[in-house]
Amino acid sequence: MFDEIWYPTDKLFIDGIWADASDVLAVEDPSTGKDFTTIARGSAGDIDRAVTAARATLNSDWGKSTALERGRILARIGQLVLERTEELARIEARDVGKPLKQARADAVALARYMEFYAGAADKITGETIPYLDGYTVYTLREPHGVTGHIIPWNYPMQIIGRSVGAALTMGNACVLKPAEDACLTALAFAAIADEAGLPKGVLNVVPGLGEEAGAALAKHPDIDHISFTGSVGVGSIIQATAAQNIVPVTLELGGKSPQLVFEDADLDAALPFLVNAGIQNAGQTCSASSRILAHRSIYDQLTEKMAARYSALQVGAALDDLDVGPLISARQKDIVAEFLGKGHDLEKAAEGHVKAAGGHFIAPTLFAGVPPDHTLAQDEIFGPVQVIIPFDTEDEAVQIANSTDYGLVASIWSQNGARQMRLAKQISAGQIFINNYGAGGGVELPFGGVGKSGHGREKGFEALYGFSQLKTVAAFHG
Ligand code: ADP
Repeated sequence: MFDEIWYPTDKLFIDGIWADASDVLAVEDPSTGKDFTTIARGSAGDIDRAVTAARATLNSDWGKSTALERGRILARIGQLVLERTEELARIEARDVGKPLKQARADAVALARYMEFYAGAADKITGETIPYLDGYTVYTLREPHGVTGHIIPWNYPMQIIGRSVGAALTMGNACVLKPAEDACLTALAFAAIADEAGLPKGVLNVVPGLGEEAGAALAKHPDIDHISFTGSVGVGSIIQATAAQNIVPVTLELGGKSPQLVFEDADLDAALPFLVNAGIQNAGQTCSASSRILAHRSIYDQLTEKMAARYSALQVGAALDDLDVGPLISARQKDIVAEFLGKGHDLEKAAEGHVKAAGGHFIAPTLFAGVPPDHTLAQDEIFGPVQVIIPFDTEDEAVQIANSTDYGLVASIWSQNGARQMRLAKQISAGQIFINNYGAGGGVELPFGGVGKSGHGREKGFEALYGFSQLKTVAAFHG
Protein backbone atom coordinates (compact mmCIF):
# COMPACT_ATOMS: atom_id res chain seq x y z
CA MET A 1 0.00 0.00 0.00
CA PHE A 2 1.06 3.60 -0.19
CA ASP A 3 0.05 6.92 1.26
CA GLU A 4 -2.11 8.30 -1.54
CA ILE A 5 -4.76 5.58 -1.30
CA TRP A 6 -7.75 6.61 0.81
CA TYR A 7 -10.22 3.85 -0.14
CA PRO A 8 -10.14 0.04 0.06
CA THR A 9 -8.30 -1.39 -2.94
CA ASP A 10 -9.12 -5.04 -2.37
CA LYS A 11 -12.91 -4.77 -2.33
CA LEU A 12 -15.80 -4.69 -4.76
CA PHE A 13 -18.00 -1.60 -4.92
CA ILE A 14 -21.54 -2.89 -5.29
CA ASP A 15 -24.74 -1.05 -4.38
CA GLY A 16 -22.72 1.68 -2.70
CA ILE A 17 -21.00 -0.74 -0.34
CA TRP A 18 -17.37 -1.87 -0.24
CA ALA A 19 -17.72 -5.64 -0.16
CA ASP A 20 -15.26 -8.51 0.11
CA ALA A 21 -14.69 -10.85 -2.81
CA SER A 22 -14.06 -14.53 -2.24
CA ASP A 23 -10.50 -14.14 -3.54
CA VAL A 24 -7.94 -11.44 -4.33
CA LEU A 25 -5.35 -10.84 -7.07
CA ALA A 26 -1.89 -9.35 -6.57
CA VAL A 27 -1.15 -5.94 -8.10
CA GLU A 28 2.30 -5.43 -9.56
CA ASP A 29 4.18 -2.15 -9.91
CA PRO A 30 5.47 -2.24 -13.52
CA SER A 31 8.36 0.04 -12.54
CA THR A 32 9.76 -2.49 -10.05
CA GLY A 33 8.18 -5.79 -11.07
CA LYS A 34 7.13 -6.21 -7.42
CA ASP A 35 3.62 -6.64 -6.00
CA PHE A 36 2.45 -3.77 -3.80
CA THR A 37 -1.23 -4.36 -3.07
CA THR A 38 -4.16 -6.61 -3.90
CA ILE A 39 -7.48 -6.21 -5.69
CA ALA A 40 -10.70 -8.18 -5.50
CA ARG A 41 -11.16 -11.08 -7.86
CA GLY A 42 -14.80 -10.55 -8.75
CA SER A 43 -16.86 -13.60 -9.70
CA ALA A 44 -19.88 -14.18 -11.92
CA GLY A 45 -21.97 -13.99 -8.74
CA ASP A 46 -20.51 -10.57 -7.91
CA ILE A 47 -21.32 -9.35 -11.41
CA ASP A 48 -24.86 -10.60 -10.98
CA ARG A 49 -25.25 -8.70 -7.71
CA ALA A 50 -23.85 -5.57 -9.37
CA VAL A 51 -26.27 -5.82 -12.31
CA THR A 52 -29.20 -6.37 -9.92
CA ALA A 53 -28.19 -3.32 -7.87
CA ALA A 54 -27.88 -1.20 -11.02
CA ARG A 55 -31.27 -2.38 -12.31
CA ALA A 56 -32.95 -1.49 -9.03
CA THR A 57 -31.82 2.15 -9.27
CA LEU A 58 -33.58 2.52 -12.61
CA ASN A 59 -36.84 1.73 -10.89
CA SER A 60 -36.23 4.25 -8.12
CA ASP A 61 -35.07 7.85 -7.86
CA TRP A 62 -32.26 7.57 -10.43
CA GLY A 63 -34.80 6.43 -13.01
CA LYS A 64 -36.76 9.62 -12.39
CA SER A 65 -33.77 11.95 -12.10
CA THR A 66 -33.70 15.03 -14.29
CA ALA A 67 -30.87 15.86 -16.63
CA LEU A 68 -30.15 18.91 -14.48
CA GLU A 69 -29.73 16.75 -11.35
CA ARG A 70 -27.44 14.32 -13.13
CA GLY A 71 -25.41 17.21 -14.51
CA ARG A 72 -24.93 18.62 -11.02
CA ILE A 73 -23.66 15.28 -9.69
CA LEU A 74 -21.22 15.00 -12.59
CA ALA A 75 -20.01 18.53 -11.91
CA ARG A 76 -19.37 17.61 -8.26
CA ILE A 77 -17.48 14.47 -9.33
CA GLY A 78 -15.38 16.60 -11.69
CA GLN A 79 -14.57 19.03 -8.91
CA LEU A 80 -13.50 16.25 -6.52
CA VAL A 81 -11.38 14.64 -9.23
CA LEU A 82 -9.64 17.98 -9.80
CA GLU A 83 -8.99 18.36 -6.08
CA ARG A 84 -7.47 14.88 -6.00
CA THR A 85 -5.46 15.22 -9.23
CA GLU A 86 -2.12 14.67 -7.56
CA GLU A 87 -3.20 11.60 -5.58
CA LEU A 88 -4.92 10.07 -8.59
CA ALA A 89 -1.86 10.73 -10.73
CA ARG A 90 0.48 9.06 -8.25
CA ILE A 91 -1.80 6.06 -7.88
CA GLU A 92 -2.09 5.67 -11.66
CA ALA A 93 1.64 6.14 -12.19
CA ARG A 94 2.35 3.36 -9.72
CA ASP A 95 -0.36 1.04 -11.03
CA VAL A 96 0.09 1.50 -14.80
CA GLY A 97 3.74 2.56 -14.89
CA LYS A 98 3.05 5.78 -16.77
CA PRO A 99 5.23 8.84 -16.13
CA LEU A 100 3.64 11.21 -13.62
CA LYS A 101 3.04 13.98 -16.14
CA GLN A 102 0.96 11.62 -18.27
CA ALA A 103 -0.91 10.31 -15.23
CA ARG A 104 -1.64 13.90 -14.20
CA ALA A 105 -2.96 14.65 -17.70
CA ASP A 106 -5.23 11.59 -17.42
CA ALA A 107 -6.67 12.79 -14.10
CA VAL A 108 -7.31 16.24 -15.54
CA ALA A 109 -8.95 14.63 -18.59
CA LEU A 110 -11.22 12.62 -16.28
CA ALA A 111 -12.29 15.86 -14.61
CA ARG A 112 -12.80 17.46 -18.04
CA TYR A 113 -15.12 14.63 -19.11
CA MET A 114 -17.20 15.21 -15.99
CA GLU A 115 -17.29 18.97 -16.62
CA PHE A 116 -18.16 18.54 -20.28
CA TYR A 117 -20.94 16.02 -19.63
CA ALA A 118 -22.20 18.00 -16.65
CA GLY A 119 -22.77 20.92 -19.00
CA ALA A 120 -24.16 18.76 -21.79
CA ALA A 121 -26.65 16.82 -19.65
CA ASP A 122 -29.57 19.21 -20.03
CA LYS A 123 -28.80 20.19 -23.62
CA ILE A 124 -29.69 16.91 -25.26
CA THR A 125 -33.03 17.38 -26.93
CA GLY A 126 -35.37 15.41 -29.15
CA GLU A 127 -37.07 16.80 -32.25
CA THR A 128 -40.50 17.32 -33.65
CA ILE A 129 -41.18 15.72 -37.01
CA PRO A 130 -43.63 17.23 -39.51
CA TYR A 131 -46.10 14.46 -40.36
CA LEU A 132 -49.63 13.77 -41.57
CA ASP A 133 -52.45 16.19 -40.89
CA GLY A 134 -53.79 15.70 -37.37
CA TYR A 135 -50.55 14.29 -35.93
CA THR A 136 -47.85 15.67 -33.68
CA VAL A 137 -44.71 13.57 -33.72
CA TYR A 138 -41.69 13.99 -31.48
CA THR A 139 -38.72 12.02 -30.25
CA LEU A 140 -37.43 11.28 -26.76
CA ARG A 141 -33.89 10.31 -25.80
CA GLU A 142 -33.98 7.58 -23.15
CA PRO A 143 -31.22 5.62 -21.39
CA HIS A 144 -30.51 2.04 -22.48
CA GLY A 145 -30.86 0.91 -18.86
CA VAL A 146 -27.97 -1.03 -17.32
CA THR A 147 -24.73 -0.47 -19.21
CA GLY A 148 -21.67 -2.72 -18.90
CA HIS A 149 -18.22 -1.14 -19.26
CA ILE A 150 -15.20 -3.38 -19.82
CA ILE A 151 -12.08 -1.28 -19.99
CA PRO A 152 -8.34 -1.85 -20.49
CA TRP A 153 -5.34 -0.97 -18.36
CA ASN A 154 -3.69 1.67 -20.51
CA TYR A 155 -5.83 4.77 -19.76
CA PRO A 156 -8.31 3.77 -17.03
CA MET A 157 -9.19 7.33 -16.00
CA GLN A 158 -9.74 8.67 -19.50
CA ILE A 159 -11.79 5.67 -20.56
CA ILE A 160 -13.94 5.80 -17.43
CA GLY A 161 -14.52 9.48 -18.16
CA ARG A 162 -15.61 8.98 -21.71
CA SER A 163 -17.75 5.89 -21.23
CA VAL A 164 -19.12 5.89 -17.68
CA GLY A 165 -19.37 9.69 -17.79
CA ALA A 166 -21.52 9.65 -20.92
CA ALA A 167 -23.62 6.71 -19.71
CA LEU A 168 -24.45 8.40 -16.39
CA THR A 169 -25.29 11.65 -18.16
CA MET A 170 -28.07 9.92 -20.06
CA GLY A 171 -29.44 8.23 -16.93
CA ASN A 172 -28.06 4.74 -17.32
CA ALA A 173 -26.87 2.70 -14.33
CA CYS A 174 -23.39 1.22 -14.79
CA VAL A 175 -21.39 -1.88 -14.01
CA LEU A 176 -17.69 -1.25 -14.59
CA LYS A 177 -15.18 -4.09 -14.96
CA PRO A 178 -11.71 -2.53 -14.97
CA ALA A 179 -8.70 -4.46 -16.26
CA GLU A 180 -7.00 -6.82 -13.83
CA ASP A 181 -3.68 -5.03 -14.48
CA ALA A 182 -4.96 -1.60 -13.44
CA CYS A 183 -8.02 -1.25 -11.21
CA LEU A 184 -6.96 1.29 -8.62
CA THR A 185 -8.23 4.52 -10.18
CA ALA A 186 -11.52 2.85 -11.14
CA LEU A 187 -12.04 2.14 -7.44
CA ALA A 188 -10.96 5.69 -6.62
CA PHE A 189 -13.57 6.94 -9.08
CA ALA A 190 -16.24 4.89 -7.29
CA ALA A 191 -15.20 6.43 -3.97
CA ILE A 192 -15.30 9.94 -5.46
CA ALA A 193 -18.66 9.41 -7.17
CA ASP A 194 -20.08 8.18 -3.86
CA GLU A 195 -18.69 11.22 -2.06
CA ALA A 196 -20.20 13.46 -4.75
CA GLY A 197 -23.65 12.08 -4.03
CA LEU A 198 -24.19 9.63 -6.89
CA PRO A 199 -27.01 7.43 -5.57
CA LYS A 200 -25.96 4.01 -4.33
CA GLY A 201 -26.09 1.27 -6.96
CA VAL A 202 -25.88 3.63 -9.94
CA LEU A 203 -22.17 2.89 -10.39
CA ASN A 204 -20.82 -0.53 -9.44
CA VAL A 205 -17.17 -1.51 -9.86
CA VAL A 206 -16.23 -5.18 -10.02
CA PRO A 207 -12.51 -5.79 -10.54
CA GLY A 208 -11.53 -9.25 -11.71
CA LEU A 209 -10.20 -11.38 -14.51
CA GLY A 210 -11.38 -10.96 -18.09
CA GLU A 211 -12.47 -14.56 -18.54
CA GLU A 212 -14.33 -14.50 -15.21
CA ALA A 213 -15.85 -11.13 -14.27
CA GLY A 214 -15.49 -9.69 -17.80
CA ALA A 215 -17.11 -12.64 -19.54
CA ALA A 216 -19.87 -12.77 -16.91
CA LEU A 217 -20.65 -9.10 -17.48
CA ALA A 218 -20.62 -9.38 -21.29
CA LYS A 219 -23.07 -12.25 -21.28
CA HIS A 220 -25.32 -11.16 -18.42
CA PRO A 221 -28.91 -11.33 -19.69
CA ASP A 222 -29.92 -8.15 -17.85
CA ILE A 223 -27.35 -5.84 -19.46
CA ASP A 224 -28.75 -3.42 -22.05
CA HIS A 225 -25.57 -2.08 -23.63
CA ILE A 226 -21.88 -2.99 -23.54
CA SER A 227 -18.97 -0.72 -24.20
CA PHE A 228 -15.60 -2.34 -24.58
CA THR A 229 -12.13 -0.96 -25.17
CA GLY A 230 -9.34 -3.48 -25.64
CA SER A 231 -7.95 -6.02 -28.08
CA VAL A 232 -9.52 -7.10 -31.36
CA GLY A 233 -9.68 -10.71 -30.15
CA VAL A 234 -11.66 -9.94 -27.02
CA GLY A 235 -13.75 -7.32 -28.87
CA SER A 236 -14.84 -10.02 -31.27
CA ILE A 237 -15.85 -12.28 -28.35
CA ILE A 238 -17.79 -9.41 -26.75
CA GLN A 239 -19.65 -8.66 -29.96
CA ALA A 240 -20.53 -12.34 -30.44
CA THR A 241 -21.72 -12.57 -26.84
CA ALA A 242 -23.80 -9.41 -27.15
CA ALA A 243 -25.36 -10.87 -30.27
CA GLN A 244 -26.79 -13.72 -28.17
CA ASN A 245 -28.66 -11.20 -26.02
CA ILE A 246 -29.33 -8.76 -28.91
CA VAL A 247 -27.75 -5.81 -27.13
CA PRO A 248 -25.83 -2.94 -28.75
CA VAL A 249 -22.06 -2.73 -28.34
CA THR A 250 -19.53 0.04 -28.69
CA LEU A 251 -16.09 -1.31 -29.52
CA GLU A 252 -12.81 0.61 -29.52
CA LEU A 253 -10.07 -1.81 -30.49
CA GLY A 254 -6.89 0.08 -31.27
CA GLY A 255 -5.15 0.92 -34.49
CA LYS A 256 -2.07 1.39 -36.62
CA SER A 257 -2.52 5.11 -37.03
CA PRO A 258 -0.42 6.92 -39.63
CA GLN A 259 0.93 10.45 -39.82
CA LEU A 260 1.49 11.60 -43.41
CA VAL A 261 4.31 14.10 -43.75
CA PHE A 262 4.46 15.94 -47.08
CA GLU A 263 7.26 17.92 -48.71
CA ASP A 264 5.67 21.22 -47.65
CA ALA A 265 5.23 20.28 -43.97
CA ASP A 266 6.74 22.34 -41.18
CA LEU A 267 9.01 19.56 -39.94
CA ASP A 268 10.08 21.29 -36.75
CA ALA A 269 6.48 21.90 -35.76
CA ALA A 270 5.61 18.30 -36.61
CA LEU A 271 8.54 16.66 -34.86
CA PRO A 272 7.33 16.60 -31.25
CA PHE A 273 3.91 15.32 -32.36
CA LEU A 274 5.42 12.65 -34.61
CA VAL A 275 7.56 11.20 -31.82
CA ASN A 276 5.28 11.77 -28.86
CA ALA A 277 2.37 10.03 -30.57
CA GLY A 278 4.53 6.92 -30.74
CA ILE A 279 6.07 6.88 -27.30
CA GLN A 280 3.34 8.34 -25.09
CA ASN A 281 2.40 5.79 -22.41
CA ALA A 282 5.25 3.66 -23.83
CA GLY A 283 3.27 3.26 -27.05
CA GLN A 284 0.46 1.49 -25.17
CA THR A 285 -2.16 3.79 -26.59
CA CYS A 286 -5.06 2.82 -28.87
CA SER A 287 -4.51 5.96 -30.91
CA ALA A 288 -0.70 5.72 -30.88
CA SER A 289 0.82 6.75 -34.18
CA SER A 290 3.05 3.84 -35.07
CA ARG A 291 3.50 4.67 -38.77
CA ILE A 292 5.17 7.79 -40.12
CA LEU A 293 4.71 8.15 -43.87
CA ALA A 294 7.34 10.55 -45.24
CA HIS A 295 7.51 12.08 -48.70
CA ARG A 296 10.78 10.96 -50.28
CA SER A 297 12.04 14.54 -50.71
CA ILE A 298 12.07 15.09 -46.91
CA TYR A 299 12.53 11.48 -45.88
CA ASP A 300 16.27 11.69 -45.02
CA GLN A 301 15.89 14.96 -43.16
CA LEU A 302 12.88 13.72 -41.19
CA THR A 303 14.52 10.40 -40.33
CA GLU A 304 17.56 12.25 -39.04
CA LYS A 305 15.47 14.60 -36.89
CA MET A 306 13.35 11.79 -35.46
CA ALA A 307 16.43 9.67 -34.81
CA ALA A 308 18.03 12.53 -32.87
CA ARG A 309 14.92 12.74 -30.66
CA TYR A 310 14.83 9.00 -30.14
CA SER A 311 18.49 8.93 -29.13
CA ALA A 312 17.72 11.47 -26.40
CA LEU A 313 14.73 9.56 -24.96
CA GLN A 314 15.11 8.33 -21.40
CA VAL A 315 13.21 5.40 -19.98
CA GLY A 316 12.68 4.97 -16.25
CA ALA A 317 10.35 4.41 -13.32
CA ALA A 318 6.98 6.13 -13.52
CA LEU A 319 7.57 8.29 -10.45
CA ASP A 320 10.92 9.45 -11.87
CA ASP A 321 8.81 11.02 -14.62
CA LEU A 322 11.20 10.59 -17.55
CA ASP A 323 10.11 10.47 -21.20
CA VAL A 324 8.93 6.86 -21.16
CA GLY A 325 7.91 4.48 -18.36
CA PRO A 326 7.88 0.68 -18.26
CA LEU A 327 5.44 -1.52 -20.14
CA ILE A 328 2.51 -2.75 -18.08
CA SER A 329 3.69 -6.35 -17.61
CA ALA A 330 6.31 -8.96 -18.41
CA ARG A 331 3.81 -10.41 -20.88
CA GLN A 332 3.51 -7.09 -22.73
CA LYS A 333 7.29 -6.74 -22.77
CA ASP A 334 7.59 -10.20 -24.33
CA ILE A 335 5.07 -9.25 -27.02
CA VAL A 336 6.97 -6.06 -27.89
CA ALA A 337 10.34 -7.84 -27.79
CA GLU A 338 8.99 -10.43 -30.21
CA PHE A 339 7.94 -7.66 -32.62
CA LEU A 340 11.39 -6.07 -32.33
CA GLY A 341 12.84 -9.47 -33.27
CA LYS A 342 10.66 -9.45 -36.38
CA GLY A 343 12.34 -6.18 -37.33
CA HIS A 344 15.77 -7.84 -37.64
CA ASP A 345 15.72 -7.25 -41.42
CA LEU A 346 14.98 -3.53 -41.02
CA GLU A 347 17.18 -0.47 -40.64
CA LYS A 348 17.13 0.57 -36.98
CA ALA A 349 17.41 4.37 -37.16
CA ALA A 350 17.75 4.97 -33.40
CA GLU A 351 16.71 3.86 -29.95
CA GLY A 352 16.28 5.46 -26.54
CA HIS A 353 18.05 4.68 -23.28
CA VAL A 354 16.80 2.58 -20.40
CA LYS A 355 17.93 4.28 -17.17
CA ALA A 356 16.45 1.88 -14.64
CA ALA A 357 16.35 -1.82 -13.84
CA GLY A 358 13.88 -4.24 -12.34
CA GLY A 359 10.74 -3.06 -14.14
CA HIS A 360 9.36 -3.95 -17.56
CA PHE A 361 11.49 -1.43 -19.42
CA ILE A 362 12.18 -1.50 -23.12
CA ALA A 363 14.09 0.98 -25.29
CA PRO A 364 11.87 2.97 -27.68
CA THR A 365 12.90 1.97 -31.18
CA LEU A 366 12.63 3.77 -34.52
CA PHE A 367 12.89 1.84 -37.78
CA ALA A 368 13.40 3.59 -41.12
CA GLY A 369 12.84 2.64 -44.75
CA VAL A 370 10.17 0.14 -43.78
CA PRO A 371 8.15 -1.54 -46.54
CA PRO A 372 4.43 -0.81 -46.02
CA ASP A 373 3.53 -4.50 -45.96
CA HIS A 374 6.09 -5.44 -43.28
CA THR A 375 4.64 -6.94 -40.08
CA LEU A 376 5.91 -3.94 -38.11
CA ALA A 377 4.03 -1.64 -40.49
CA GLN A 378 0.80 -3.65 -40.36
CA ASP A 379 0.28 -5.08 -36.88
CA GLU A 380 -0.54 -3.17 -33.72
CA ILE A 381 2.52 -3.53 -31.45
CA PHE A 382 1.35 -1.66 -28.33
CA GLY A 383 4.87 -0.64 -27.43
CA PRO A 384 7.21 2.31 -28.13
CA VAL A 385 8.05 1.34 -31.70
CA GLN A 386 7.60 3.50 -34.78
CA VAL A 387 8.33 2.87 -38.44
CA ILE A 388 9.09 5.44 -41.12
CA ILE A 389 7.76 4.54 -44.57
CA PRO A 390 8.83 6.63 -47.59
CA PHE A 391 6.34 7.49 -50.36
CA ASP A 392 6.54 9.33 -53.70
CA THR A 393 3.04 10.57 -54.51
CA GLU A 394 -0.06 11.69 -52.67
CA ASP A 395 -2.05 8.75 -54.06
CA GLU A 396 0.57 6.32 -52.84
CA ALA A 397 0.51 7.92 -49.38
CA VAL A 398 -3.26 7.47 -49.16
CA GLN A 399 -3.00 3.90 -50.39
CA ILE A 400 -0.38 3.08 -47.72
CA ALA A 401 -2.36 4.90 -45.01
CA ASN A 402 -5.41 2.79 -45.83
CA SER A 403 -3.52 -0.50 -46.19
CA THR A 404 -3.95 -1.89 -42.65
CA ASP A 405 -6.97 -3.58 -41.07
CA TYR A 406 -7.40 -0.57 -38.76
CA GLY A 407 -8.69 2.98 -39.04
CA LEU A 408 -8.71 4.93 -35.78
CA VAL A 409 -6.76 8.15 -36.22
CA ALA A 410 -4.58 9.76 -38.91
CA SER A 411 -2.84 13.06 -39.39
CA ILE A 412 -1.82 15.10 -42.40
CA TRP A 413 1.19 17.40 -42.21
CA SER A 414 1.07 19.81 -45.15
CA GLN A 415 0.50 23.51 -45.81
CA ASN A 416 -1.60 22.76 -48.89
CA GLY A 417 -5.24 23.41 -48.00
CA ALA A 418 -6.70 21.56 -50.96
CA ARG A 419 -4.62 18.50 -50.12
CA GLN A 420 -5.68 18.68 -46.49
CA MET A 421 -9.36 18.63 -47.48
CA ARG A 422 -8.89 15.93 -50.11
CA LEU A 423 -7.02 13.58 -47.82
CA ALA A 424 -9.30 14.16 -44.87
CA LYS A 425 -11.97 12.54 -47.06
CA GLN A 426 -9.80 9.82 -48.59
CA ILE A 427 -8.18 8.44 -45.46
CA SER A 428 -10.15 5.76 -43.60
CA ALA A 429 -10.16 6.71 -39.93
CA GLY A 430 -12.55 7.95 -37.28
CA GLN A 431 -10.51 11.07 -36.57
CA ILE A 432 -8.28 13.10 -38.91
CA PHE A 433 -5.90 15.73 -37.61
CA ILE A 434 -4.39 18.42 -39.80
CA ASN A 435 -1.01 19.81 -38.74
CA ASN A 436 -1.37 18.34 -35.25
CA TYR A 437 -1.96 14.96 -33.68
CA GLY A 438 -4.59 14.33 -31.04
CA ALA A 439 -5.68 17.95 -30.61
CA GLY A 440 -4.69 17.82 -26.95
CA GLY A 441 -7.01 14.92 -26.12
CA GLY A 442 -10.26 16.63 -27.01
CA VAL A 443 -13.02 15.34 -24.72
CA GLU A 444 -15.38 17.33 -26.98
CA LEU A 445 -14.33 15.48 -30.15
CA PRO A 446 -16.16 12.30 -31.22
CA PHE A 447 -13.75 9.36 -31.29
CA GLY A 448 -13.93 5.82 -32.61
CA GLY A 449 -12.80 3.66 -35.45
CA VAL A 450 -13.56 1.99 -38.73
CA GLY A 451 -12.57 -1.53 -39.75
CA LYS A 452 -10.93 -3.56 -36.99
CA SER A 453 -10.55 -0.40 -34.89
CA GLY A 454 -14.17 -1.00 -33.92
CA HIS A 455 -17.45 0.85 -34.24
CA GLY A 456 -19.55 3.36 -32.37
CA ARG A 457 -18.35 6.76 -31.21
CA GLU A 458 -17.31 7.92 -27.78
CA LYS A 459 -16.46 11.41 -26.49
CA GLY A 460 -18.28 14.62 -27.28
CA PHE A 461 -22.06 14.86 -27.70
CA GLU A 462 -21.94 11.88 -30.03
CA ALA A 463 -21.31 9.55 -27.08
CA LEU A 464 -24.55 10.74 -25.50
CA TYR A 465 -26.45 9.51 -28.54
CA GLY A 466 -24.64 6.16 -28.27
CA PHE A 467 -25.54 5.82 -24.58
CA SER A 468 -29.22 6.49 -25.21
CA GLN A 469 -31.95 5.25 -27.47
CA LEU A 470 -34.46 7.20 -29.46
CA LYS A 471 -38.18 6.79 -28.90
CA THR A 472 -40.63 8.19 -31.45
CA VAL A 473 -44.02 9.37 -30.22
CA ALA A 474 -46.75 9.89 -32.84
CA ALA A 475 -49.88 11.48 -31.37
CA PHE A 476 -53.11 11.69 -33.38
CA HIS A 477 -55.30 14.51 -32.21
CA GLY A 478 -57.37 15.20 -35.32
P1 ADP B 1 -5.12 -6.30 -23.46
O1 ADP B 1 -4.67 -7.36 -24.39
O2 ADP B 1 -4.70 -4.95 -23.82
O3 ADP B 1 -4.95 -6.66 -22.01
P2 ADP B 1 -7.81 -7.22 -23.47
O4 ADP B 1 -8.70 -7.07 -24.64
O5 ADP B 1 -7.29 -8.57 -23.16
O6 ADP B 1 -6.67 -6.18 -23.68
O7 ADP B 1 -8.50 -6.68 -22.15
C1 ADP B 1 -9.33 -5.55 -22.09
C2 ADP B 1 -10.40 -5.78 -21.05
O8 ADP B 1 -11.18 -6.92 -21.44
C3 ADP B 1 -9.87 -6.10 -19.65
O9 ADP B 1 -10.72 -5.52 -18.68
C4 ADP B 1 -9.98 -7.62 -19.59
O10 ADP B 1 -10.11 -8.10 -18.26
C5 ADP B 1 -11.25 -7.85 -20.37
N1 ADP B 1 -11.38 -9.19 -20.95
C6 ADP B 1 -10.40 -10.04 -21.34
N2 ADP B 1 -10.92 -11.19 -21.80
C7 ADP B 1 -12.27 -11.08 -21.71
C8 ADP B 1 -13.37 -11.93 -22.06
N3 ADP B 1 -13.19 -13.12 -22.58
N4 ADP B 1 -14.62 -11.45 -21.84
C9 ADP B 1 -14.82 -10.22 -21.33
N5 ADP B 1 -13.83 -9.40 -20.98
C10 ADP B 1 -12.57 -9.81 -21.17
